Amino acid sequence: MLTHPCFHKAAAHWFDTVHLPIAQQCNMKCNYCDRLSDCVHENKPGRASKILSVRQAYMKVARAVKDNPRLKVVGISGPGEALANKNTFKVLNWLNNDFPYLTKCVSTNGLMLADSLPELIAAGVSAVSVTVNGTDPQIVADMIQWITYQDKNYQGESAAELLISKQFQGIKAAAAAGIIVRINSILVPGINDLHLWQVALEARKAGALMMNIVPLVPQAGFIFYNPPTKDELALARATIARLIPVSPPCNNCAMTTAEMEYNSVL
Ligand code: SF4
Repeated sequence: MLTHPCFHKAAAHWFDTVHLPIAQQCNMKCNYCDRLSDCVHENKPGRASKILSVRQAYMKVARAVKDNPRLKVVGISGPGEALANKNTFKVLNWLNNDFPYLTKCVSTNGLMLADSLPELIAAGVSAVSVTVNGTDPQIVADMIQWITYQDKNYQGESAAELLISKQFQGIKAAAAAGIIVRINSILVPGINDLHLWQVALEARKAGALMMNIVPLVPQAGFIFYNPPTKDELALARATIARLIPVSPPCNNCAMTTAEMEYNSVL
């Protein structure tokens, strides 16, 4: 993973990632997401992606490989949930066939990670980013409206319980299969800010190697919530870093004002 900009600080200076917006549907509704823009978990909020077809996504990578020798990673990230879209697997298989040397990385909310693992392994995926905002169903229930799993809709704490259990089942299975697992957590002051250290502990126990703290961008159901200040973000990262390595800040992915201020002091 030394060439993956999300996993290694030096790699962000030397290597590039191409993100493919091919996943339109989502199987849950997070309170901080308005579904008008990309999945908040991995992209700059407010920037709606044009959805690429399987062919367009393949051509984007083929052109990038030709033009950019620094390209090392292909990421499937949104604008919805990668694993809830069949096109994700079609693109991954095509890419694995023709560009097996590129690292293939998938961002997911984790609900279908365990179920999708055989297909991900067959498609050569070697890294996943799983968004986990809590391990306590009461906290997670405050951050989501509903989830859909196997054609059944869940709400409230039953949705949160199922989501958490599926996320950790997937993280454990992926790590056991040799896939690098990074955890993404959205930091929402007043909801999960005092809880993320527990996420870090559980994630490490489950086999995750790294955690990324993403500051809330107030929108949708959380439009009246305050984002973390730069000090709050720095404190959260310093606390988590005592338990699990924290992902290096990267200008390619989600970055807000607090993030930019934080990066500028590094
Ligand atoms: Fe939005 Fe991503 Fe949550 Fe789906 S998983 S609701 S796209 S933030």
